[in-house]
Amino acid sequence: MKNIIFIAVHGTGKGTQCDLLTEKYKFNHLSTGELIRKAIKKQDDFAKDLEKTINSGKLVSDEVVLDLINDYIATNQSGEGIIFDGFPRTLNQALALDKLLANKKQKIDNVFYLEIAKEEALKRTMGRLICSNCQKSYNKFYDNLKPKQAGICDVCGGKLEQRSDDTEEAFNKLFDTFLEETLPILDYYEDKNILTKIDASMNQEDIFKKVEEKLKEV
Ligand code: AMP
Repeated sequence: MKNIIFIAVHGTGKGTQCDLLTEKYKFNHLSTGELIRKAIKKQDDFAKDLEKTINSGKLVSDEVVLDLINDYIATNQSGEGIIFDGFPRTLNQALALDKLLANKKQKIDNVFYLEIAKEEALKRTMGRLICSNCQKSYNKFYDNLKPKQAGICDVCGGKLEQRSDDTEEAFNKLFDTFLEETLPILDYYEDKNILTKIDASMNQEDIFKKVEEKLKEV
């Protein structure tokens, strides 16, 4: 069993790598962005605040995110490793995660940082389409990532939509926040000798090969 973290700028494609891994191997996929988007569907006052936060390109508070993670880890009984997608995003979250896992006699085994140029991440963000039903991700700017039929999910026939936080304004804000808040945690994991940097300008299959190669190392 391995616990894995994916770190990348908004729009890079970390969700796609997590999907590829969960399709091929037994993992629990924990996306904090997904948990937040589910919470937003409740449409209460708390949900409206969350929606405003993510659409303006800000991070949700550590307190809220850590509550979501606590609930998830407490109820995750299957014994398989967890892929953390989009978490931690701050040093405070990284430290809290280590404590939570230590209480369960577990640790983080691998951290993947998907490196990409800002312009490429922006292009991927602006082209991203998500299935409103099964959440599968597509991209209208790349032939190998387009759906077979425009606007329709290949897998379940659901309607494809653009995420409300996939705007240039939110992207620019998130990019700056990434540099300030998230990049410092790379040093934290590098010191622990569990960080792997991958050139994410490659296509998703080649990135996935690199991830698999690393995970197969003993
Ligand atoms: P993602 O699906 O990972 O792109 O996340 C969508 C949005 O949810 C992010 O842009 C943040 O506003 C928020 N979010 C997701 N994960 C975190 C986190 N670990 N800490 C704070 N905010 C988060």
